[in-house]
Amino acid sequence: MDLFDSNTAERANLPRNMIENSMFEEEPDVVDLAKDSNTFPTFPTLDPDEVAYEPRSSRLLVRGLGENDMDDDEEDCESSARLLGMSFMNRSSSHRSSSSPYVRQSPPRSCSRPSARTMVVCVFLLVIVASLTMVLYFLPGCTFTKAGCPQPNKTTPLEPVYPNSTNGELFPWAELRLPHSIRPLSYDLTFTPDLDSMTFTGKAAIEMSVLHNTKRIVLHAANLNITKATFKLGSGQARDVTVLEYKPRQQIAVKFPEELKTDQQCVLTFEYNANLSHSYDGFYNSSYIDQYRKKRVLAATQFEPLSARKAFPCFDEPSFKATFLIKINRNQSYMSLSNMPKAKTTLLSSGLEQDEFEKTNVNMSTYLVAFIVANFTSVSSSASGTNVSVYSVPYKKEQTGFALDTASKLLQFYNKFFEIEYPLKKLDLVAIPDFLAGAMENWGLITFRETTLLLDNNSSSFEKQVVASVIAHEIAHQWFGNLVTMSWWNDLWLNEGFATYMEYMSLQEIMPSFDTGYLFLTVRFRALDKDALNSSHPVSTEVNTPEQIEEMFDSVSYEKGASILLMLNASLPEEQQFKKGIIRYLKSFSGLNTETVDLWNSLTQVSNPRKNISEMMSLWTSQKGFPLVTVSRKGDMVTFSQEPFLLTSDNTTKAPRQWNIPITFVNDSCSLAPACRQMFNLSKKSESLKVPESVKWLKLNYKNTGFYIVDYGQDGWSAIHDALSENINVLTAEDRASVIHNIFALSRLGRVPFVRVCQLLSFMPNETETAPVTEALLQLNSIYRLLDKRQESDLAARMKDYIQHQFGSLMESQTWEEEESLSKQELRSALISTACALNDEGYVAKAKSLFKNYTDSNFTSKIPGDLQQAVFTVAAQSDDGWQTLFTLYATTTNDAQKRKILKGLASTQDPHRIAWILKAGLSGDIIQTQELPLIINTVCNGFAGYLFAWDFIQVNWDRLIEKFPVGSFAIQTIVKSTTSQFSTQVHLDQVQAFFSSLKQRGSQMRSVQEALETIRLNKRWIENNLEAMRKLS
Ligand SMILES: [Zn+2]
Repeated sequence: MDLFDSNTAERANLPRNMIENSMFEEEPDVVDLAKDSNTFPTFPTLDPDEVAYEPRSSRLLVRGLGENDMDDDEEDCESSARLLGMSFMNRSSSHRSSSSPYVRQSPPRSCSRPSARTMVVCVFLLVIVASLTMVLYFLPGCTFTKAGCPQPNKTTPLEPVYPNSTNGELFPWAELRLPHSIRPLSYDLTFTPDLDSMTFTGKAAIEMSVLHNTKRIVLHAANLNITKATFKLGSGQARDVTVLEYKPRQQIAVKFPEELKTDQQCVLTFEYNANLSHSYDGFYNSSYIDQYRKKRVLAATQFEPLSARKAFPCFDEPSFKATFLIKINRNQSYMSLSNMPKAKTTLLSSGLEQDEFEKTNVNMSTYLVAFIVANFTSVSSSASGTNVSVYSVPYKKEQTGFALDTASKLLQFYNKFFEIEYPLKKLDLVAIPDFLAGAMENWGLITFRETTLLLDNNSSSFEKQVVASVIAHEIAHQWFGNLVTMSWWNDLWLNEGFATYMEYMSLQEIMPSFDTGYLFLTVRFRALDKDALNSSHPVSTEVNTPEQIEEMFDSVSYEKGASILLMLNASLPEEQQFKKGIIRYLKSFSGLNTETVDLWNSLTQVSNPRKNISEMMSLWTSQKGFPLVTVSRKGDMVTFSQEPFLLTSDNTTKAPRQWNIPITFVNDSCSLAPACRQMFNLSKKSESLKVPESVKWLKLNYKNTGFYIVDYGQDGWSAIHDALSENINVLTAEDRASVIHNIFALSRLGRVPFVRVCQLLSFMPNETETAPVTEALLQLNSIYRLLDKRQESDLAARMKDYIQHQFGSLMESQTWEEEESLSKQELRSALISTACALNDEGYVAKAKSLFKNYTDSNFTSKIPGDLQQAVFTVAAQSDDGWQTLFTLYATTTNDAQKRKILKGLASTQDPHRIAWILKAGLSGDIIQTQELPLIINTVCNGFAGYLFAWDFIQVNWDRLIEKFPVGSFAIQTIVKSTTSQFSTQVHLDQVQAFFSSLKQRGSQMRSVQEALETIRLNKRWIENNLEAMRKLS
């Protein structure tokens, strides 16, 4: 999946880190398990007297699993976590429900009416239970790994707790993860959507194999009204069965009086009906207004991560791969698409037509299944024997050419690069009018936002770059994710980190003019910024609840994942070693599921000389954060030391964190060419090496390919400052951007005063390259906005002067004509947007005149694509301009331009318009709700709207989480946008109070923890640096 805003939104002029973290890290077990949501509440309280309140007794509960009918090996260690949580929750719950859905199969209670004798007995029993608890606690516990599961202890008197099904019967399963006694082999699915009533009926026949003797089958289903279910064992007769449902975990089950035996095959068939979803997941309805102003409807799917279960009953976990045969019964005026090519169409007696798609020739995870019923049109071509098509609503057919060409090139590139042919006969790319993410990699049927797939003749090269990047990401997933899939969502980075890495890598090869190297550098900076927070998490981290799974879709999985892959590739001695390793990984695990260690093992196996990649890289995937490397020098001895880079203290980490860091460095005698790069592996806390005394300075982390930050100490920074002051070309542009990023990070850490940051930036007036300029602008702009929002108007004015002083001459040298080079467009866009945002009269006047020409020419004159945002934002500040843009918004068919217009509209400083646009974004009538995170982000950047937006999300929180799941990237963006510019205690208290009050409706999201941490950091930074800023010239 592409998160869209992570790749494509604001660049230098708008900070856009993504977010994370959980509120109560000191009690991780409680928090993990106590999470709740409307769609997926967790365990209700247990029957009070049945539960051991002592936390350690949780292990007792786990070990008690043996005496019931659960399968031997499948009650894996996850169960301990769940049950652990249940006991904790009960302990902490102030409202123990007397109507708990859990029913225990244990003796009746005692101690309810204490007499003296019963008291003695109770105390005695308690002593026995406590003693038993301690004995069991000190036995080797379940370690949550494959190897570490203890055998159930058959002697323990306690038994597991099963919830009640909706019909009152005991539900035969007590965990979030499904049992492994049954494996699905194939699904035969028929869907009949009714786009008038926005409902559908479905029939699902699931063929499965019994892996271990069991008396029940448990699978997922959500919001499906099952009307009939049958079961057929082997070649026997199908018979009706009762389906039990436990809604809080979106599970259904069928119980059998006799055990199903290992290796038996069986088929469960369900008939059901449901509403098409009104959010952006499951089988959902979408609509658009065509060129004749007529509303058109369609239905499409978005299943990742947990929504296939909303369209059909299924084993909805990524490791349950199976084949799929899909049939769609549709009205004759529509067409349908699915993962596979259409095999045949038949006319049904009902008058509907049935499209039957070929059975998948690959096993795939449920989250990759997709189908669409719409009236789309397409363009097609053939690439390496695969039929590639791009689908859109009919009147946008002309906008599909670039995507088709790019997808064909990328498919050929990846076929060759991975040395494995794309396994399906066709690859469709479809632009969906309502789509929340950037795109989704469904196998053979990739779905996109219109903005990330369609381009017209007026589209700029920047917009082409966006489209190419998203296509490159999604097609890379056809191997990384689809062919080889992570076993569970804890290793989502194996999908997303790789697809992100391949997106930059492939485009650098086949479309070098897009300069994706620059983009990749900037996302690495942002990943560092996020991972510096205590609220970050390891790349590979345990997840269980739906909210935790949603939260994995963040910049740690995507951008940090990609960054550590780049670091590894850059540190390997042999050029092709990384490529050989990933080919080996893909070939070894083709069609299967993997864990992080499988990747490292594949890379180790191809290393020559043999190097234990796993030893080095597991430190980067299992620990959150990254190292700060400090350089100190005495004569010819240089010492590198490492410590975690932590913006706030981390009281929860017991063991000191250390990494195995492949340090690279250059010095003043040779600093530009790759051959200048020297390597040093820092695996201890501190290590030294000799350098010639004549060396004046060292620059570590050549081109910032490593995931760490460097502090050169006062002397080291001075030497770099002197060298850059003399000649900025002593370092590559990437390295100049790297020192700028690092020194701002050290300032935020409190290690470097802001005045030293300004000293280093004294070379900026000579700077002309995009990466260092945009990095410096982004950092300075965010400080300007903090000051502005604190109403420190004098300091904000000084910061504005400082920015104009540093970049004034470079701003003046920019033209307003069409510019060919994408890199120069990036530079110009950042500079001119900043000048306009700072209300620099000359630039504002020029932007106004461009907009006037544009309206005078009835929107036929051209505004260069990279300048449109700045021009629309300026135009929206006047009444006439806003009205004109609003009219244009309704009529424009170029979706990238439409988004820029929307951002312009949302940048208004008129309170009534701000109120209107926030409301319109939420209601979805005039502005699609998918754009609400963008609207909120834009409103928050302005002075007039940021407090308003904060009020808005508090008032409308429940409606927001109806549209966007708790923990999702959209919610992460909204939380960050509305809180990241606060820097006072009052706002900190407000934010804390609001999110605490949400309880299960989002209080435990990582993004909330990140918000609080960010406000504290803003406050600290401002307090520490006010004086220095007053001295800015
Ligand atoms: Zn992705």
